[in-house]
Amino acid sequence: MAFSKKVAVKVAIAAGGRCCFPGCRELLTEYGSNLSEFAHISGDKKKSARHDSSLSEEYRQSAENAAAMCLKHHKVIDDNPEDYSVVDIHEWKSKHEEWVKNNNKTVDLLAFKIKEINELISRGDIGKAQNNLDFIEEIAENEGTEYHAQTLVLKARCLRFYEKHEDAAEELKYFVQKNPSVILTQLAYAEILLTFGNSEYLREIIKRTRH
Ligand SMILES: [Zn+2]
Repeated sequence: MAFSKKVAVKVAIAAGGRCCFPGCRELLTEYGSNLSEFAHISGDKKKSARHDSSLSEEYRQSAENAAAMCLKHHKVIDDNPEDYSVVDIHEWKSKHEEWVKNNNKTVDLLAFKIKEINELISRGDIGKAQNNLDFIEEIAENEGTEYHAQTLVLKARCLRFYEKHEDAAEELKYFVQKNPSVILTQLAYAEILLTFGNSEYLREIIKRTRH
């Protein structure tokens, strides 16, 4: 069984979206659409590597028991359980998370993801873009106004792809009111209002930015 999306998001954020195998740190580019990039530290099934029948099913599927790992290293640890113990993997995971925290790697992950989502939208791959957006939403909010604004605009772009202009406007509305100085969201909001024939808002922004 793969971890739930909620668990995967939690683990991925703490790992900066990178493999925690010592010396690897590969960016898990498929993260968001491929939940197999998370290894069970103590094996999922009876015959899985590092399985411990004394653990509860709930613990087994929890974030505590999940490690972000590239496909190559996921295979390495599962094929050689005698070489890599539960204790080893827990240690890698916590060292890796420490490194992520100390080196601000979460911001790198965000920047990478935002670029990737932009490309997905341009290609018309909206489902995948939205899936990735769900993954970064929480981090973006925590990393400040600029990132939050960028993800909201991306979300609105996805909705507009499906002609859901009202939903797109709704997505931005609160943020726009609260952050009048963030031009990116102001313009995106004004652009949506234009589709409803409302050009007043755009005029207002232009007037405001001239002063
Ligand atoms: Zn790796």
